[in-house]
Amino acid sequence: MTTFHSTRSTTDSLTSKQAIRKGIADDGGLFVSDSLGDEHVDIASLAGKSYRQIAQDVLAKLLPDFTDEELADCIREAYGDQWSDPAITPLRPLGDDYILELFNGPTSAFKDVALQILPRFMARTTPAGGDEDEKIMILTATSGDTGKAALAGFADAPGTAITVFYPEGKVSQVQQLQMTTQTGDNVNVCAVKGNFDDAQSAVKRIFGDKELAAELAGTSHTVLSSANSINVGRLVPQVVYYFAAYAQLLERQVINVGDEVEFTVPTGNFGDILAGYYAKLLGLPVKHLVVASDRNNVLFDFLTSGTYNRQRPFYQTISPSMDILVSSNLERMLYYFSEKDTRLISMLMNDLSQWGAFEVPEPMLKSIRSLFGCGWADEDQVRESIRDCWERNRYVIDPHTACGYFVMQQMPRDPLTPRVLLSTASPYKFPRVVNESLGLDATGTDFECMDVLAEATGTTAPAALRGLETADVRFDDVVEIDAMEEYVRSAAEK
Ligand SMILES: *Cc1c(COP(=O)(O)O)cnc(C)c1O
Repeated sequence: MTTFHSTRSTTDSLTSKQAIRKGIADDGGLFVSDSLGDEHVDIASLAGKSYRQIAQDVLAKLLPDFTDEELADCIREAYGDQWSDPAITPLRPLGDDYILELFNGPTSAFKDVALQILPRFMARTTPAGGDEDEKIMILTATSGDTGKAALAGFADAPGTAITVFYPEGKVSQVQQLQMTTQTGDNVNVCAVKGNFDDAQSAVKRIFGDKELAAELAGTSHTVLSSANSINVGRLVPQVVYYFAAYAQLLERQVINVGDEVEFTVPTGNFGDILAGYYAKLLGLPVKHLVVASDRNNVLFDFLTSGTYNRQRPFYQTISPSMDILVSSNLERMLYYFSEKDTRLISMLMNDLSQWGAFEVPEPMLKSIRSLFGCGWADEDQVRESIRDCWERNRYVIDPHTACGYFVMQQMPRDPLTPRVLLSTASPYKFPRVVNESLGLDATGTDFECMDVLAEATGTTAPAALRGLETADVRFDDVVEIDAMEEYVRSAAEK
């Protein structure tokens, strides 16, 4: 039986359902399974399979205590016609390379891949003999993308509710409208007077408030949970698209079964690229995984020096979802590369919280570097890359994907190994920056920018984004930081 325990200790022994419900281990570690990779996914049978069939094969290996039927139901509901492309994550040629589009879901960002299925997993994790009426309330503070993807995933999901806080005036026009127009009876969206860090800290305090937890359990059968990217249920759905990319390369006869592929991944919290490592452990022939960072290049420094140091300036860039100084999911990669040494991981993480830095042993760094490449792009390079990619390939990329594009161009190219760039957002989520980079008019509203971009490039804005201009705003609450707890209480009682 596959069980999960913390990266920092082996005392827990949880099923995948329990790990998904719990989110994070009591000691602050992340849930991992020691049997990951014991069984491989059959790659010889990948070609010709649909995304859903591949998802079934892959998720059955990663979440073995879900029945085949439960997985099939989750997969059918999550990867249906809310996606604008039947391939879900289509692979397209990009010059001599390939690009894997992860942004064809309802919110036009790659987080949909995981957040469309997480609520379906959660609805199936109620413990036998547990409180049937128990409701999971997802609580999130967002600086932009995650909030909307979580709202879209949890809207009207049985047994759940969701409350999202965002900093008033600190998200883009499109991002704010994406959230405040969200439909669904179980959703709550509220602006907060403060910045993202204030909102995030307040959410952490609410999670840690035992009295509130007892009160919510008693009066409204509600338990608070988070949908952040360290949850096992958010990580494992991302493993699927690496296999789906491989299947599409097989179908195009770019590779034969067993040939190796290289992936370049725009990285923030290390979830997306970690899923590529899980795919390799499950038997996918991955030659290299290249971490692409923006100006917040803490991972580049770590992978080149062996020292992870979070004590550095934080830059707010045009690729906001990659502006991160602590990449939480890195801890799982370190666990596997330490040969599952929970004592070492516990020590490193203790160093990080106490001193703001840690250093890994030299042999460990060497083996990490044999698989993981790295690079980063500053904001001028990001803008140039958006223009270069358009001029060479007639393909428009967003600023996050552009970090990956820049880094991929820097890497030595082995003509025998196909390269796949993961594209994490639609350019229409960031139309102003894209227009500026392409030398187009960027003076109007976000919607005018979208129209200019469409006209100039012959591409089409996703209907859900373009339609925001006229969508009904459902939420206009603004609260002080101190009033967030009360907002959660009344949301739970709804
Ligand atoms: C979240 C996000 C990323 C970073 O992904 P991680 O899994 O956190 O590394 C990159 N690009 C976009 C558009 C995102 O929303």
